[in-house]
Amino acid sequence: MNELTKEQIEQAKEVSFSNLLILNRQNFARCPFHNERTPSLHIRDNRAYCFGCGWKGDTIQFVREYYELSFELAIEYLLNGRIYVHENN
Ligand SMILES: [Zn+2]
Repeated sequence: MNELTKEQIEQAKEVSFSNLLILNRQNFARCPFHNERTPSLHIRDNRAYCFGCGWKGDTIQFVREYYELSFELAIEYLLNGRIYVHENN
């Protein structure tokens, strides 16, 4: 992937959190950023907030932190559902 466009970044933010996490009916998921048994990560307007550890962010921030990816690779993951191997990495 070359230079990211604004559109690509917006598109990546619009990928639903339900593709990344298992949400219950109240839009809560188990937070991967702290240890817990009952879901306390709440999704609203496709942004996450954790009532347990205070983590908050959009899908790009989530993928970056969860998979420890760069901004560019996080976008690529969100848009393609996968990451292609980059020769110069
Ligand atoms: Zn948490």
